[in-house]
Parts: sequence; structure tokens; C-alpha cells
Amino acid sequence: MPATETKQPDGITKYLNNGRDFIDEDAIELCLKKAKADPARVREIISKALASCETLEPGETATLLSVEDPLLLEEMYAAAALVKKKVYDNRVVTFAPLYCANLCENNCLYCGFRKDNTSEIRRKLSMDEIRKETEVLAGVIGHKRLVVVFGESRATGADYIAESIRTIYSVKVKTRKGFGQIRRVNVNAAPMSVEDLKKLKTAGIGTFQVFQETYHRKTYADIHPGGTPKSDFRWRLYAMHRAFEAGIDDVALGALFGLYNWKFEVMALLAHAKELEKTFGIGPHTISFPRIEDAAGTDFNRKSAHRVSDRDFKKLVAVLRLSVPYAGMLVTAREKPEIIRDVIPMCTQRDASSRIGIGAYSDRYSAQEAKRQQFMLGDTRSLDEVIGELAALGHITSFCTSGYRCGRTGDHIMKMLKSGKEGRFCKLNAILTFREWLDDFASPATQAAGEKLILREIKEALNSETYNLEMRTKLTGYYNRIKSGERDLCF
Ligand code: SAM
Ligand code: SF4
Repeated sequence: MPATETKQPDGITKYLNNGRDFIDEDAIELCLKKAKADPARVREIISKALASCETLEPGETATLLSVEDPLLLEEMYAAAALVKKKVYDNRVVTFAPLYCANLCENNCLYCGFRKDNTSEIRRKLSMDEIRKETEVLAGVIGHKRLVVVFGESRATGADYIAESIRTIYSVKVKTRKGFGQIRRVNVNAAPMSVEDLKKLKTAGIGTFQVFQETYHRKTYADIHPGGTPKSDFRWRLYAMHRAFEAGIDDVALGALFGLYNWKFEVMALLAHAKELEKTFGIGPHTISFPRIEDAAGTDFNRKSAHRVSDRDFKKLVAVLRLSVPYAGMLVTAREKPEIIRDVIPMCTQRDASSRIGIGAYSDRYSAQEAKRQQFMLGDTRSLDEVIGELAALGHITSFCTSGYRCGRTGDHIMKMLKSGKEGRFCKLNAILTFREWLDDFASPATQAAGEKLILREIKEALNSETYNLEMRTKLTGYYNRIKSGERDLCF
């Protein structure tokens, strides 16, 4: 039985189609086998993705996955970056993970938190400790958006998660010119019942994120031992269906790449997105594509026959970007800086200054403690360094959380994204929230790079026909008010 809730049988069965779930392994394998990278066909599919912002069909995605020709691949990367620009403009949203507890009843072979890893020090943060972590994240580093992360344990179920969310929202810290506050709390936790998900909804959850890990049933069973809550493949597969039923319409999908054939996982993520679109009229808010990293006490990752090379990683990011054009795409600090630089033009979000030990933001963090975390990070640079680099590459960092708070979620935001209208808000809110961050947190070097970029962005917005006079006037007014210390003004 899942540890965090009372399992209800219809939390799975009512969504099945004649007893079958939506992952048709044979159909996926056949599609991959039949796919041929005919250049004319590939270009046709790229044009479709660029023109329509509609989700691709499985055969189309499989064709893109089969491309090996380096020139054609370059065309795909360029098109994927264009799709990102068209839907989200040149902004990159940053966030940080906040690990609240590592108590876990599961034994996922690849994870440092699995229950058999006795070298892991188990902790569950008190609300006071969560407050302290938040003070550092919102008041010293300057984050506005967090993803709170939990193992799966009865001791850290929905009530604890909901209380954590409320605690985080309650923290307000004085900064150089204004105040810092977390404005959006996303959750990465075990699948839950509708009843438990409603508790998170009431607490003000942003996005509910569950990675399927692998969509391949046999592999899933091999690495999530029977008798543990996580061994129930379908309970996890329908986590997002239950979230929608609970009224949470911002959901995030992901697969842990390196467990099984990466092309299969891309096809399955597409199937999952299409299933949500078909059933609820809304696709995933974001898609994540973490690659397995080394973790304490396991050599599973090194031995895996399905590790994804850097070249294939870039390809999978491009194919996902083109296949589900409206979805946000999240690259994490699991990746090394050079990899992130390479894929960031196709992505919409990244984390920065991340620490994945329990209490690691406010605790003194020794090298010894750093070993006791879920896995090893590839990019440990500060948010300030990351923002400076993004600015130098022409990307504006956005701390915008307004979509969610202005009711632009679910099918509303889907329509806005597909029509390119959300990108208009993205740019303006990126400018406003970047102004806040520069004034409150930037180092002198990042400030200098940031000022150049923000001036360019303002000029672009004020000269663009995309915005009517009212919006342009509002932008200038809000911008000046933020410069004088007001906070949280957005479109
Ligand atoms: N315990 C919850 C669960 O399993 O869904 C949520 C938290 S878990 C800490 C978040 C995600 O970390 C997992 O879904 C998995 O994809 C990822 N993860 C686990 N071990 C990893 C590793 N060694 N390298 C990279 N990512 C890993
Ligand atoms: Fe626990 Fe999640 Fe790690 Fe599995 S991936 S051992 S469920 S924390």
C-alpha cells in the first residue's frame, strides 16, 4: 500500500480503457522500428512543430528520434530553440529544490534515499527548520519558486507536505531594497490519493510533479522491488489523473533517463502527454528529463546498460521540445554546466544554487555531509553566477510566478501557450521580476551584465507591436515602482 495515503482501487481502474493503461509497449516498439529518417519527412515534421504548436503524433516523434545525420540534427536543435522562443520568449525561469525529508519506505535501486542505504542519515525537517531554509532561499539567494521534495513515508504524508507549503509561503524576509518571499511551491513527492491531493491544493500547491522513472513495465518491476509502495506501476502512472480530479491542473511529467532505452521513454512521455490532453483537455505544465547520477551506496547507475550519452541527451531534449511544444522543459543541476549551456536554448526552466541534502541551505554544509544526499550534482554554481552566465548568453532570468496566481493555469494557459500569447506575458514579467532580483541580490559583476540585458529587453518590449499602448505604459509604471522598492507587480 502506498505510504502516504489510503489507496482507493478506483484511483486506477476507473481510468483504464478495457482494463488496459495508455502505455502500449508493442505499439511504441513498432513505431520506433518502422521510423526512417527521410530528410524531407523530417523537415515536414519540424515545420509542423514550428507552425502549429500542436503535439506531434507518435510516428512523427519516432521519425525525429531516428535522425542521425549531423546536419539534420542541427536543424532540429535550431527549430527546437525557435519553438521555445515562440512559446516562451527568451526567458529562463529559475527555481531551487528544497529537500524537506529523506525518510523513505522504498528501495529504488538507483537512489541514495532508498531504505536499505544505511549510511544515509534520515531526517525530517521541523516547520521551524523549513522556515530557516526558506529564509536563506528567499532572503539571501533570492529564489521566488521552489520545488519541495520528499521521500515516501507515512511520517511525511500529505498533512506534513501541506504544512510545509503553508510554512514556506508564510516567510517574508527583508532584502536590500524590498523583501523576499517564495511565491510558488511546487511539489515532487510520491503519488497520492485524490483526498490527499486536495490537501495540497488547499495549501496552495503550484505544480504537482511525479516522475514515472521508467514507463517500461519489466524494468520498472526490476528496480522497484515488490512489497514496497513504489512497486505499483499503475498507481504511479495515474498519479496525474488523480491530481486533475483533485483540482490540481498544473502537473509535471518526467522520466529518469538511464533506466531503459531512452527512445522508448520519450515515446512514452509523449503518450502520457496525449493521454492527459485527451482525458482532461490539458497537457503537462512541464516535462523533466533527469539522467541518473551516481548516488551513495549504489553502483547501479554506473552499471546501467542504458546510460544516455551527451549527444543522445541533446537529441532527446530537442525531440521532446518539438513533440510537446507548449510544455515547459526543465533541465536540472544534475547536468554539468557545459551540458546545460548546450540545451538551455530549448528549455524553459533550470534550478540553481541547489542543495539536495536535508537542511542543507541553512546548515553548515561540510564535504562529509555533501556525500549524504540523494545523488551527486553536476552544476553547483550559485544563482548569481548562473544568472550572470544566462545574461551573457542573451537569456533573461525570470522569477515570474504570475501565471498561476492570475488564473493562467490549466486549459487557460494551454490555449495561451499554443497561441503564443503567454510568451507576451513571459517577457514583461521576466523584466519586472529580473529588476527585483538585480536590486535585491545581484553581485556587482552580475548587476553589470544584467543591466545591459534588461535595458535591451525593455527597449524591445517598448518598440514591439505585440504590446498595445496600455501594456507599454503599465510596464513603465510597474518598472519604476519596483525600482523604488515595491515588489510583486506583474501582468
Ligand atoms: N520520493 C518521491 C518519488 O520517488 O517520486 C519523490 C522524490 S525523489 C527524491 C525525486 C526524483 O529523484 C525521483 O523521481 C527520481 O527520478 C530522481 N532520482 C532518484 N535517484 C536519482 C539519481 N541517482 N540520479 C538522478 N535522479 C534521481
Ligand atoms: Fe525513495 Fe523517491 Fe528515492 Fe525511491 S526515488 S528511494 S521513492 S526518495
